[in-house]
Amino acid sequence: MGMVETLISKAFQTALLMHKQKIASHTYHLKLKLASGFANYLPGQQLRVFVGLDNPLNVNDLLRTYSVWHYNPATLEADLAVCTFSKGKGAAWAEKIQTGETVYFSGPKGRFVFDRSAAAYLFLGDISALAPLYELARQVEPGQSFRGFVYSADESDFFMDGFSGNQFKFIKAVDYQSCTIIQELNGLQLPATNTITYIAGEAAFCKDLHDYFHKTLCWDARQIKAKPFWHSNKKGLE
Ligand SMILES: Cc1cc2nc3c(=O)[nH]c(=O)nc-3n(C[C@H](O)[C@H](O)[C@H](O)COP(=O)(O)OP(=O)(O)OC[C@H]3O[C@@H](n4cnc5c(N)ncnc54)[C@H](O)[C@@H]3O)c2cc1C
Repeated sequence: MGMVETLISKAFQTALLMHKQKIASHTYHLKLKLASGFANYLPGQQLRVFVGLDNPLNVNDLLRTYSVWHYNPATLEADLAVCTFSKGKGAAWAEKIQTGETVYFSGPKGRFVFDRSAAAYLFLGDISALAPLYELARQVEPGQSFRGFVYSADESDFFMDGFSGNQFKFIKAVDYQSCTIIQELNGLQLPATNTITYIAGEAAFCKDLHDYFHKTLCWDARQIKAKPFWHSNKKGLE
Protein backbone atom coordinates (compact mmCIF):
# COMPACT_ATOMS: atom_id res chain seq x y z
CA MET A 1 0.00 0.00 0.00
CA GLY A 2 1.40 3.42 -0.99
CA MET A 3 1.70 6.38 1.37
CA VAL A 4 -1.40 8.13 -0.01
CA GLU A 5 -3.51 4.96 0.35
CA THR A 6 -2.23 4.48 3.91
CA LEU A 7 -3.27 8.04 4.83
CA ILE A 8 -6.68 7.64 3.16
CA SER A 9 -7.32 4.30 4.86
CA LYS A 10 -6.72 5.99 8.23
CA ALA A 11 -9.09 8.88 7.46
CA PHE A 12 -11.93 6.87 5.85
CA GLN A 13 -13.96 3.77 6.54
CA THR A 14 -13.41 0.89 4.15
CA ALA A 15 -15.43 -1.70 2.28
CA LEU A 16 -14.70 -4.25 -0.43
CA LEU A 17 -16.61 -4.10 -3.68
CA MET A 18 -18.31 -7.54 -3.73
CA HIS A 19 -20.42 -7.17 -6.83
CA LYS A 20 -20.81 -4.73 -9.68
CA GLN A 21 -23.54 -4.80 -12.31
CA LYS A 22 -24.80 -2.40 -14.92
CA ILE A 23 -28.55 -2.31 -14.21
CA ALA A 24 -29.61 0.44 -16.62
CA SER A 25 -28.11 2.45 -19.48
CA HIS A 26 -26.46 4.92 -17.08
CA THR A 27 -26.44 3.14 -13.70
CA TYR A 28 -24.19 0.68 -11.89
CA HIS A 29 -25.29 -1.32 -8.86
CA LEU A 30 -22.33 -1.56 -6.46
CA LYS A 31 -22.59 -4.00 -3.53
CA LEU A 32 -20.15 -3.28 -0.70
CA LYS A 33 -18.97 -5.59 2.08
CA LEU A 34 -18.31 -3.21 4.96
CA ALA A 35 -15.34 -3.66 7.28
CA SER A 36 -17.65 -2.60 10.12
CA GLY A 37 -21.33 -1.74 10.39
CA PHE A 38 -22.77 1.72 9.83
CA ALA A 39 -23.20 3.73 13.03
CA ASN A 40 -26.84 4.84 13.46
CA TYR A 41 -27.87 4.49 9.81
CA LEU A 42 -31.21 6.06 8.85
CA PRO A 43 -32.78 5.11 5.49
CA GLY A 44 -32.26 7.93 3.00
CA GLN A 45 -28.77 8.84 4.20
CA GLN A 46 -25.72 9.08 1.98
CA LEU A 47 -22.01 8.25 1.92
CA ARG A 48 -19.13 10.48 0.83
CA VAL A 49 -17.08 8.20 -1.38
CA PHE A 50 -13.41 8.73 -2.17
CA VAL A 51 -13.25 8.64 -5.98
CA GLY A 52 -9.91 10.38 -6.51
CA LEU A 53 -7.28 7.85 -5.56
CA ASP A 54 -5.62 8.06 -8.98
CA ASN A 55 -5.07 11.84 -8.61
CA PRO A 56 -5.31 12.82 -4.93
CA LEU A 57 -3.88 16.31 -5.61
CA ASN A 58 -7.02 17.36 -7.50
CA VAL A 59 -9.14 18.39 -4.50
CA ASN A 60 -12.34 19.10 -6.49
CA ASP A 61 -12.41 15.53 -7.68
CA LEU A 62 -11.66 13.63 -4.47
CA LEU A 63 -15.12 12.97 -3.10
CA ARG A 64 -18.62 12.34 -4.46
CA THR A 65 -21.88 11.70 -2.64
CA TYR A 66 -23.91 8.51 -3.13
CA SER A 67 -26.99 7.46 -1.17
CA VAL A 68 -27.46 4.05 0.37
CA TRP A 69 -29.91 2.00 -1.69
CA HIS A 70 -30.07 -0.85 0.84
CA TYR A 71 -28.24 -1.81 4.02
CA ASN A 72 -28.13 -5.20 5.71
CA PRO A 73 -26.56 -4.87 9.19
CA ALA A 74 -26.53 -8.66 9.67
CA THR A 75 -24.28 -9.32 6.67
CA LEU A 76 -22.53 -5.90 6.68
CA GLU A 77 -23.59 -5.35 3.08
CA ALA A 78 -24.54 -1.97 1.64
CA ASP A 79 -25.73 -1.20 -1.87
CA LEU A 80 -25.31 1.91 -3.99
CA ALA A 81 -26.70 2.82 -7.41
CA VAL A 82 -24.23 5.13 -9.13
CA CYS A 83 -25.22 7.00 -12.30
CA THR A 84 -22.87 7.99 -15.10
CA PHE A 85 -24.91 10.74 -16.85
CA SER A 86 -22.50 13.33 -15.41
CA LYS A 87 -19.39 11.83 -17.09
CA GLY A 88 -17.32 13.33 -14.22
CA LYS A 89 -14.88 11.83 -11.74
CA GLY A 90 -17.58 9.93 -9.84
CA ALA A 91 -18.97 8.43 -13.03
CA ALA A 92 -15.46 7.42 -14.15
CA TRP A 93 -14.80 5.82 -10.72
CA ALA A 94 -17.99 3.73 -11.04
CA GLU A 95 -17.06 2.66 -14.58
CA LYS A 96 -13.55 1.68 -13.56
CA ILE A 97 -13.75 0.06 -10.14
CA GLN A 98 -13.55 -3.75 -10.13
CA THR A 99 -14.88 -6.34 -7.68
CA GLY A 100 -12.38 -7.05 -4.90
CA GLU A 101 -11.13 -3.45 -4.83
CA THR A 102 -11.37 -1.26 -1.72
CA VAL A 103 -13.94 1.53 -1.43
CA TYR A 104 -13.09 4.38 0.97
CA PHE A 105 -15.98 6.39 2.37
CA SER A 106 -17.28 8.48 5.25
CA GLY A 107 -20.80 8.49 6.67
CA PRO A 108 -23.58 7.64 6.46
CA LYS A 109 -25.07 11.01 7.21
CA GLY A 110 -27.85 13.34 6.10
CA ARG A 111 -31.33 14.52 7.02
CA PHE A 112 -33.22 13.36 3.91
CA VAL A 113 -34.66 10.52 5.97
CA PHE A 114 -38.00 8.84 6.48
CA ASP A 115 -40.67 10.70 8.47
CA ARG A 116 -43.14 8.11 9.75
CA SER A 117 -45.88 10.59 10.62
CA ALA A 118 -47.89 10.62 7.35
CA ALA A 119 -50.62 8.34 6.00
CA ALA A 120 -49.47 8.67 2.39
CA TYR A 121 -46.19 9.39 0.60
CA LEU A 122 -45.19 10.67 -2.79
CA PHE A 123 -41.68 10.14 -4.19
CA LEU A 124 -40.45 12.28 -7.10
CA GLY A 125 -37.11 12.58 -8.82
CA ASP A 126 -34.72 11.73 -11.61
CA ILE A 127 -32.73 8.53 -12.07
CA SER A 128 -29.86 9.67 -9.80
CA ALA A 129 -32.37 9.73 -6.91
CA LEU A 130 -34.25 6.53 -7.78
CA ALA A 131 -32.34 4.18 -5.43
CA PRO A 132 -32.67 6.33 -2.27
CA LEU A 133 -36.33 7.03 -3.10
CA TYR A 134 -36.88 3.25 -3.32
CA GLU A 135 -35.07 2.89 0.03
CA LEU A 136 -37.48 5.46 1.56
CA ALA A 137 -40.50 3.78 -0.07
CA ARG A 138 -39.48 0.49 1.59
CA GLN A 139 -40.00 2.18 4.98
CA VAL A 140 -43.72 2.78 4.25
CA GLU A 141 -45.69 0.55 6.59
CA PRO A 142 -48.88 -1.47 6.05
CA GLY A 143 -51.78 0.95 6.36
CA GLN A 144 -49.74 3.74 4.78
CA SER A 145 -49.61 4.20 1.01
CA PHE A 146 -47.17 5.60 -1.52
CA ARG A 147 -46.78 6.55 -5.15
CA GLY A 148 -43.54 7.27 -6.96
CA PHE A 149 -42.68 9.00 -10.24
CA VAL A 150 -39.26 9.19 -11.83
CA TYR A 151 -38.33 10.86 -15.08
CA SER A 152 -35.63 10.44 -17.68
CA ALA A 153 -35.17 11.02 -21.39
CA ASP A 154 -35.10 7.28 -22.07
CA GLU A 155 -36.82 4.32 -20.46
CA SER A 156 -33.60 2.26 -20.71
CA ASP A 157 -32.36 4.43 -17.77
CA PHE A 158 -35.11 3.11 -15.50
CA PHE A 159 -34.69 0.25 -13.01
CA MET A 160 -36.86 -1.45 -10.42
CA ASP A 161 -36.07 -1.81 -6.72
CA GLY A 162 -34.20 -5.11 -6.55
CA PHE A 163 -34.85 -5.27 -2.78
CA SER A 164 -38.66 -5.08 -2.84
CA GLY A 165 -39.84 -5.47 -6.42
CA ASN A 166 -41.31 -1.94 -6.15
CA GLN A 167 -41.38 0.02 -9.34
CA PHE A 168 -42.24 3.72 -9.56
CA LYS A 169 -44.03 5.11 -12.59
CA PHE A 170 -41.60 6.07 -15.35
CA ILE A 171 -42.19 9.41 -17.09
CA LYS A 172 -40.39 10.18 -20.32
CA ALA A 173 -39.28 13.80 -20.10
CA VAL A 174 -36.59 15.25 -22.31
CA ASP A 175 -36.97 18.95 -21.48
CA TYR A 176 -39.18 20.90 -19.10
CA GLN A 177 -39.13 17.98 -16.63
CA SER A 178 -40.89 19.97 -13.93
CA CYS A 179 -43.85 20.82 -16.19
CA THR A 180 -44.22 17.20 -17.29
CA ILE A 181 -44.22 15.90 -13.72
CA ILE A 182 -46.54 18.68 -12.50
CA GLN A 183 -48.97 17.81 -15.32
CA GLU A 184 -48.96 14.20 -14.09
CA LEU A 185 -49.49 15.33 -10.46
CA ASN A 186 -52.37 17.63 -11.41
CA GLY A 187 -54.36 14.56 -12.39
CA LEU A 188 -53.86 12.82 -9.02
CA GLN A 189 -56.07 14.94 -6.73
CA LEU A 190 -53.61 14.60 -3.86
CA PRO A 191 -54.94 14.96 -0.30
CA ALA A 192 -53.68 18.29 1.11
CA THR A 193 -53.06 16.90 4.59
CA ASN A 194 -51.41 13.83 6.02
CA THR A 195 -49.25 13.33 2.91
CA ILE A 196 -45.48 13.84 2.70
CA THR A 197 -43.61 14.24 -0.55
CA TYR A 198 -39.91 13.50 -1.07
CA ILE A 199 -38.32 15.31 -4.02
CA ALA A 200 -34.72 14.67 -5.12
CA GLY A 201 -32.47 15.08 -8.14
CA GLU A 202 -31.62 18.14 -10.19
CA ALA A 203 -31.69 21.39 -8.15
CA ALA A 204 -34.06 23.36 -10.42
CA PHE A 205 -36.48 20.43 -10.49
CA CYS A 206 -36.44 20.27 -6.66
CA LYS A 207 -37.16 24.02 -6.44
CA ASP A 208 -39.98 23.93 -9.02
CA LEU A 209 -41.65 20.99 -7.31
CA HIS A 210 -41.19 22.55 -3.85
CA ASP A 211 -42.88 25.71 -5.16
CA TYR A 212 -45.69 23.67 -6.74
CA PHE A 213 -46.56 21.96 -3.44
CA HIS A 214 -45.97 24.98 -1.18
CA LYS A 215 -47.23 27.89 -3.29
CA THR A 216 -49.72 26.30 -5.70
CA LEU A 217 -51.18 23.54 -3.52
CA CYS A 218 -50.52 25.43 -0.22
CA TRP A 219 -49.01 22.40 1.52
CA ASP A 220 -47.30 23.00 4.84
CA ALA A 221 -43.49 23.18 4.40
CA ARG A 222 -43.11 20.23 6.81
CA GLN A 223 -44.87 18.01 4.26
CA ILE A 224 -42.25 18.73 1.58
CA LYS A 225 -38.79 17.13 1.85
CA ALA A 226 -36.63 18.31 -1.05
CA LYS A 227 -32.95 17.41 -1.53
CA PRO A 228 -30.97 18.67 -4.55
CA PHE A 229 -28.54 15.95 -5.69
CA TRP A 230 -26.90 17.89 -8.51
CA HIS A 231 -26.93 21.30 -10.12
CA SER A 232 -26.35 21.79 -13.85
CA ASN A 233 -22.82 23.03 -14.51
CA LYS A 234 -21.70 22.46 -10.92
CA LYS A 235 -19.35 19.65 -9.88
CA GLY A 236 -19.91 17.37 -6.86
CA LEU A 237 -22.72 19.27 -5.14
CA GLU A 238 -22.02 18.31 -1.52
C1 LIG B 1 -27.29 13.88 -0.88
C2 LIG B 1 -26.89 13.37 -2.25
C3 LIG B 1 -27.12 12.05 -2.58
C4 LIG B 1 -26.78 11.56 -3.84
N1 LIG B 1 -27.02 10.26 -4.15
C5 LIG B 1 -26.71 9.79 -5.39
C6 LIG B 1 -26.93 8.43 -5.74
O1 LIG B 1 -27.37 7.61 -4.93
N2 LIG B 1 -26.60 8.03 -7.00
C7 LIG B 1 -26.10 8.92 -7.93
O2 LIG B 1 -25.82 8.50 -9.06
N3 LIG B 1 -25.88 10.20 -7.63
C8 LIG B 1 -26.16 10.66 -6.39
N4 LIG B 1 -25.93 11.96 -6.07
C9 LIG B 1 -25.42 12.85 -7.12
C10 LIG B 1 -23.93 12.69 -7.31
O3 LIG B 1 -23.23 12.94 -6.10
C11 LIG B 1 -23.46 13.73 -8.35
O4 LIG B 1 -24.20 13.63 -9.52
C12 LIG B 1 -22.00 13.58 -8.58
O5 LIG B 1 -21.46 14.89 -8.46
C13 LIG B 1 -21.61 13.11 -9.95
O6 LIG B 1 -20.20 13.11 -9.94
P1 LIG B 1 -19.30 13.21 -11.21
O7 LIG B 1 -17.93 13.42 -10.74
O8 LIG B 1 -19.58 12.07 -12.14
O9 LIG B 1 -19.80 14.53 -11.95
P2 LIG B 1 -19.44 16.05 -11.52
O10 LIG B 1 -18.03 16.35 -11.84
O11 LIG B 1 -19.91 16.28 -10.12
O12 LIG B 1 -20.38 16.84 -12.52
C14 LIG B 1 -20.07 16.94 -13.90
C15 LIG B 1 -21.25 17.56 -14.63
O13 LIG B 1 -22.34 16.62 -14.65
C16 LIG B 1 -23.53 17.25 -14.21
N5 LIG B 1 -24.34 16.21 -13.54
C17 LIG B 1 -24.22 15.74 -12.28
N6 LIG B 1 -25.14 14.77 -12.04
C18 LIG B 1 -25.86 14.65 -13.19
C19 LIG B 1 -26.97 13.82 -13.59
N7 LIG B 1 -27.51 12.92 -12.77
N8 LIG B 1 -27.44 13.95 -14.85
C20 LIG B 1 -26.90 14.86 -15.72
N9 LIG B 1 -25.87 15.67 -15.40
C21 LIG B 1 -25.35 15.56 -14.15
C22 LIG B 1 -23.03 18.37 -13.28
O14 LIG B 1 -24.01 19.38 -13.22
C23 LIG B 1 -21.78 18.82 -13.95
O15 LIG B 1 -22.08 19.76 -14.97
C24 LIG B 1 -26.21 12.45 -4.79
C25 LIG B 1 -25.94 13.78 -4.44
C26 LIG B 1 -26.27 14.24 -3.19
C27 LIG B 1 -25.99 15.68 -2.85
